[in-house]
Parts: sequence; structure tokens; C-alpha cells
Amino acid sequence: MRSRVFFKLLVAFVLVIATATLIMDIAIRREWESSLRKQITQSLTEKTRMFANRVDANKDLPLAQIVAEQAQAGGVRATVIDAKGTVLADSEASAPQMENHAARPEFIAALAGRLGVASRTSKTVGTELLYVALPVRGGAVRLAYPLSSIEQTTAVIQSKLLWASGLALLVATLIAVAISHSISMRLKKIVEFAEHVAAGDLSARIAESASDEIAQVASSLDLTARNLERSFAALQLNKDQLETLLNSIPNGVLAVTADRILAWANGAMKSLEPQIRVGAPLVESFRDPDLLHALEMVVERSETQSVQAAKLIPGKTFNVTAAPMPGGGAVAVFQDVTEIERVEKTRRDFIANVSHELRTPLTSIQGYVETVLDSYPDSGQGRQFLEIIQRNSARMARLTEDLLVLARVESGEEKPKQTPVAVAELLNEAKENFDGIAQTRGISLSVGPSVECRVNADKDAIQQVFANLIENALKYSPTGGKVVLGANASGDAVQFYVRDCGPGISLEHQQRLFERFYRVDASRSRDSGGTGLGLAIVKHIVLNHGGTVWVESALNHGASFSFTLPLSKN
Ligand code: ADP
Repeated sequence: MRSRVFFKLLVAFVLVIATATLIMDIAIRREWESSLRKQITQSLTEKTRMFANRVDANKDLPLAQIVAEQAQAGGVRATVIDAKGTVLADSEASAPQMENHAARPEFIAALAGRLGVASRTSKTVGTELLYVALPVRGGAVRLAYPLSSIEQTTAVIQSKLLWASGLALLVATLIAVAISHSISMRLKKIVEFAEHVAAGDLSARIAESASDEIAQVASSLDLTARNLERSFAALQLNKDQLETLLNSIPNGVLAVTADRILAWANGAMKSLEPQIRVGAPLVESFRDPDLLHALEMVVERSETQSVQAAKLIPGKTFNVTAAPMPGGGAVAVFQDVTEIERVEKTRRDFIANVSHELRTPLTSIQGYVETVLDSYPDSGQGRQFLEIIQRNSARMARLTEDLLVLARVESGEEKPKQTPVAVAELLNEAKENFDGIAQTRGISLSVGPSVECRVNADKDAIQQVFANLIENALKYSPTGGKVVLGANASGDAVQFYVRDCGPGISLEHQQRLFERFYRVDASRSRDSGGTGLGLAIVKHIVLNHGGTVWVESALNHGASFSFTLPLSKN
């Protein structure tokens, strides 16, 4: 590259210098020739004038003598003609043998009383001559000067000029070599600098001391490299800080590229899974199908996903939240919930065991109270106490039943047996189950608009959901009120609802309504036989089906409880 630039510059320089020399040579030669010709014409005109004066003044001297003297003195050819053009005397030829000269252009002008100037090859002497003629009394005189002298002088001048041009060309070429070499070396420095930067060495500098355009380019490139170095340093610092931060958190964090390659993992992740292979496809590090599927969904649909990964490490459970990254790929955070799960399970088992253990004594109490009440129908205040015991033991029995159901659905260990069920069948069965109770309470229970499709549902579990929701709706609706069940299509799910015209639920309670034992009015709930667990059971059954549950209500405008179930494709 260096030699190419160098030679290009050199050739350009030499061409410019050669062209300039040639133009100069032609121009100077032309100018020189024309000025020399002018000078000779002037001097010849002077001499011709003197010659004419002499011919006019010395009538006594023979013309041949004057002509000879004039020719010798001026180094010219002298000619005299009469008014008819007959040659009277000539310094270089015998006048009588010469033809008539009246038609010569210079003589035509002179015989007409003017100065005549012409140049041509003489027929008499055979060389190119410059002729100047002037009128004299009774004719005209003419001096001729050989133009070959101009050519000789010009040739000498031209050869000197060529020598000088050659010398100038040589000197200019040497200077051009030096300049193009220097430019080429400076460009080479810039190329080397660019190669360093391209290879990632941002500390490279050109450091030009000159102030021309190349130096300006060099200093701009230096400035760019300096700015890039500063930006990269800031980026690196940010990256290091972020890495330190992510490494210091106890949760495992990993990043996946859009090509499903494991791009990065923090310290916690590496100690969780020492076989992790950063830079390799994700499947080489993780085998948990739920986790892989969730990450696939995030990368493909750019949607945040949460999943529980129980097959990642034997005996451990992780809650994984994966979110899309700008520009593709995903980032996932692993929270070890093994201990939380264990405590939760212990709590659930404890509640289930206690409830189970309470079942037998409660059944026994209820049985004996009933027997005593039947055996002693008129025992006064004693009977009243027994009825209180009966009511409370019945409540406790409901509570233990609900606690057992909740423990079962909450654990998620028992997956619902989902089969395709017609939406109308679910709604009608739910209505039929409560028709009697609704009638006794004077409330109209009806099925509203529905959809003709099937959902994937565990029929018994969903009837439990409807039972809890309809029970509440009937419980809170006034006599003469209306409770409506229905379903709408909603994407790839069906949305069921149970709507009543009861007192409704204010917004601040709606968020927490599905928590266990959460009650808006605890004493009313208790009085009406509520346990505060109905909606918690509903929530867990629906979640186990892959659906969602929510309430829409405004105070004094009734309540509408909705839940979704996945649409069956069969
Ligand atoms: P409970 O056994 O007390 O009914 P739930 O979990 O079924 O327990 O309901 C929790 C609370 O939600 C109830 O105590 C009640 O305050 C409120 N609630 C439930 N359904 C309705 C409804 N249809 N209208 C008004 N409030 C309701």
C-alpha cells in the first residue's frame, strides 16, 4: 500500500512538472521568436530608412556602390528598383539578370509610398529572408535579412531552455520523491493506527506534530480513539459493577441469547449447578423441561414467565422468573424455595393432620349431643346448652372439612383430573345442585348466556368452585334477589361467572378476598355458618386448572365472581 501511494504521488508530481516545463518551453520559445522577429524588423526598417535617405541624397554615387556599402555595413542584402520594378542594383545578384520585382509584396507597398514588410524564401538566393522596402525618388529600396539567423539563435536558446527544464525537472522530481515519501510514511502511520484500533487496541495514537490536513485527520482519529477508550472504560466499569452486583446476590441469575446459548451465569448459579456450560447451548446445562419451556416462551414471545423448577437439582425446588432482554434473549432469576416449600408443606400437613384428628372426636360429640337431645326432649336450660354445643360442633366440623379440602388443593401435589366437559353441562349441574336452597330462600337462580364448547376441567373440583361461589351469592342476596350463572368465550379459555345482587364488596377488600380466613364482616360470616375458607379453596382449584379468578363489585351493586378454564381442543 505504501509503495502504491508513493508511486502514484510520484507519477502525479512528475507529470505535473513535465507538463509545466513543456508549456513553459513552448510559451517562452514563441514569445522569444516573435520578439526577436520584431526587433530584427525594427532594426531592418531603420537601416532601410537610412539606405533610402542615402540613395535619395547621393545621386552622384553609383547605385551599385551604395548598395554594396550598405550590404556590407549591415550584413544584409540590398536592392534598388525603379518605379516600374526593374532592378537597378542588387548586392547579391547581377541586376540586369534579375526579373521585374514590381509584384513583390514589399515593393508593391513601397511603390505605393508606404513601408513594405514581407518574409519568404528568396528565388534569387534560395533562403528565407525578411524584406523591408521603402519608397525613394523614382523607385524603391529594399533590405533583406536572412531569417535563418533567427532559427539559429532560437535553437541555441531552446537547447539552453531544455537543459534548464531538464535540470528543473530533476530537482523537482527529487523534491517530489521526498514529499511523496514523507506523505506515504505519514499515511502508513495512520493505516497502522487503524489496524491497531481494529484489533481492539484503543490506546494506540498517531501523534502528528505537523498542522496540515493529514495532521488534522490524524489528530481527529487520535481524539476518536481517546473518546472510544474512555467510553469503553466506562462501559467496562459498568459491566464490572453489574457483574459484582449480580454475583453478590444469593439468587442464581443467568442470561440466554436469542439462539438459546447460555451467555452468562452469576456466582450463585455456578455454585448451584457446577456443570453449567457458559457459551454452549442451554440444553447442555439444564434438563428441566418446565424451565426450558419457560425460557423458550420468553425468547420466542418476549413475555415474562414464572415457573417452578423441581427437576433442576434433586431435592431442591426453584421459583424461576424469566424476562425478555432488549434485543432478544432472556434473563432468568432462580430463587431457591426448597426451605419455604418444606415449611409450607409442614404447615399444610400439620393442618391436615389436626383437622383429620379432630374429625373423629367431633363426629362423636355431634352424635352424643344428638342422642341426648333426642332422649331428653324437655330438659329446659340444659337443652339450650346442648343446642349451642351442637351448633358449634357442626361449625367446627365444617371448618375441619374446609381445612382438609384447602390443604389438599393448596399443596398442588394432587393434580386435577382434567377431561373435556361441556360448559352448559357444568352450569346446569351447578344450578340444579342449588335450585332447592335458592327456592327456600326465595331467590331466583338462573343460567344466563353461555357458550357451546368444552373446557378441560375436573368436574367434581369445578362443582366445588361453583358450590362455594353460589353458596356465598345466595347467602348475601336478599330474599327476592337474583343470582345468575353464565359463561363467555375469552381467547383460548372460557370465562365463567356467578353474579348476585347482594350488598357488594368495597374495593379495599377485593384484593384480599381470596386469602384464607379473610372476611369483610367476620361476625356475619360466622353467624351464617361461613368458615372464611371458601374463596381460598376456589382460588387454588382454579389455579390448579391453569385458570385465574377475580371479583368485580361495587358497594350496594352486587358482586360478580369470575374464573377461567382452558378451552378443550377435543
Ligand atoms: P365465608 O365462609 O366467610 O363466606 P369465603 O371465603 O367464601 O368465606 O368468603 C370470604 C368473604 O368474602 C366473606 O366473608 C364475605 O365477607 C365476602 N364475600 C364472599 N362472597 C360474597 C358475595 N357474593 N357478596 C358479598 N360478599 C361476599
